[in-house]
Amino acid sequence: MPIAVISAWPVSVFIFGALIGSFLNVCIGRIPDGESIVTPPSHCPKCKAPIAFYDNVPMLSYIFLRGRCRACSQRISPRYFAVELMMGLLALALFHCFGLSFSFVVSCVFVAALIVISFIDLDVRIVPDVISLPGIALGLVFSTASYFFFHDEPGIIPTPLSSLIGILAGGGFLLATAWLYEKFTGVEGMGGGDIKLLAMIGAFLGWPAIPVTLFIASLIGSIVGIACMILTGAGRRLALPFAPFLCSGALAYLFYANQIIELYLPSR
Ligand SMILES: [Zn+2]
Repeated sequence: MPIAVISAWPVSVFIFGALIGSFLNVCIGRIPDGESIVTPPSHCPKCKAPIAFYDNVPMLSYIFLRGRCRACSQRISPRYFAVELMMGLLALALFHCFGLSFSFVVSCVFVAALIVISFIDLDVRIVPDVISLPGIALGLVFSTASYFFFHDEPGIIPTPLSSLIGILAGGGFLLATAWLYEKFTGVEGMGGGDIKLLAMIGAFLGWPAIPVTLFIASLIGSIVGIACMILTGAGRRLALPFAPFLCSGALAYLFYANQIIELYLPSR
C-alpha cells in the first residue's frame, strides 16, 4: 500500500506535464499565425475536422491513431507526441529536484515557455514576442514573490536584484554584440528575438545563468552546425535557428546550476 501511495505522485506529475504539453502544442501551432489559443477547439491542422476528446489524450491518442487524423487519415506531425512526452519528462525531473514547491511551479512555467519558443523558432524562425516579453516581466514577478513569500530549499529562483541584473545582462550583452557585429560587417547578426529570449532567461534564472547559457548554446550550436554542414553539404551560409540552443543552455543551468557555478565561481 505505501508503495502505491509513493508512486502515485510521479505518475500524476508526468500526466500533468503531458497535459501541459498538449496545450503547448496548441500554442506552437497557433501563435505564429496570430490565432487565438482558446478558440476554436482542437481541430486537425490539415482538414480542420474537430478532434473529439477521446482522440485528444496526450501521447496515447497519437499511438492509437498511428500518427494519423481519424477524419482525413493525413499524417499528424510527430512533434505533438514529442512535445507531450518532453513536457511530461521535464515536469517529472523538476518534481524530482524541487518537490511540490514554488520553485517547481515557476520552473514548469519557465520550461513550458522554452519549449514553445524553441519549436516555433524551429518551425518559422521567429522567437515570439508574445512569449518572451511577458516572460521577462513574469520572471521578475516570480523572483520578487519568492523573495518576500517563499523560501524554497533547494530552490532555483534568484533574488529580485539578480533577476533584474539578468534581464539587463542578457538583453544588454547581446544588444551590444549585435550592434557591433552590424556596425563592422553591415550584416544583421543575432536576431532581436534571441536578445529578448536571453533577457527572459536572465529574469527567471538570475545573472549567473547568462554566461553559462551563452557558452553552452554556442558549444551545442557549433557542434550541431558543423554536423549539419557535413551531412547536408551546405556551406557557411547555413543558418540554424539559435533559440533552441539558448533554451538547451538554460535547461542545463536549471538542472545543474550549483555544480556549474561551483566551476566558475569556486570561492562562493
Ligand atoms: Zn484531418
